[in-house]
Amino acid sequence: MNQNTLALSVHLSLVSSNTKTGPIPVSTTGAQSCPPDCGQKDACYADRSFLGMHWRAVTAGARGTDWPTFCAAIEQLDDDQLWRHNQGGDMPPDDTGRTVDPVRLGQLVMANRKKRGFTYSHWKDDASIAWFALSNVWGFTINLSADTIAEADRLYGRGSPVVVVVSSTTTQNFTTPAGHRVVVCPATQRDDVSCSTCQLCQRQRDAIVAFPAHGSGARRIDIRLAQ
Ligand code: SF4
Repeated sequence: MNQNTLALSVHLSLVSSNTKTGPIPVSTTGAQSCPPDCGQKDACYADRSFLGMHWRAVTAGARGTDWPTFCAAIEQLDDDQLWRHNQGGDMPPDDTGRTVDPVRLGQLVMANRKKRGFTYSHWKDDASIAWFALSNVWGFTINLSADTIAEADRLYGRGSPVVVVVSSTTTQNFTTPAGHRVVVCPATQRDDVSCSTCQLCQRQRDAIVAFPAHGSGARRIDIRLAQ
């Protein structure tokens, strides 16, 4: 099955059972949305365990809806509702497959008005980054996902907050070589914190948020980061 020939599906769980996010609305987008050059493809946490099974069902079109139906469901959320877009998947690409689709992004930004949606993206071409900066101005928070600290420093200050994957042994906050403050995601360190209580990634902020590598892909990420 070639996933790129399948129509893009998006699934919305109104009360997520994902312990990291907590019981908030959480979406999953088919893997057709992922950038072809994503640096985490061989170690993607979303491709594992129960989330991986769910994500593959969404990618195959067995779960979820089309994009307009998904956006209509977001519009129906209560005002001020915190919600997480894409526990798996990314923002849909345009017809070239090499950059985000500004039309579908705009539809989601409009649906999110008065809500507090947030997500992360591995699209890092200049056009995508420019569209994401506008999305952040319009209240839909898109974090740029860096694969290394050096890349986090390069992405910093381009109109969107930044997150970064770090080694599995990282537990303490630190400062990057360029002087940017890095805060380790508290949900990776404490069982009593989830996105529903923390909400840091939804905020426009100065601090970079760090995610220590974990799970079955951790060793691969640790080796890559050490090179
Ligand atoms: S920093 Fe907070 S909002 Fe971001 S992923 Fe961790 S728990 Fe969720």
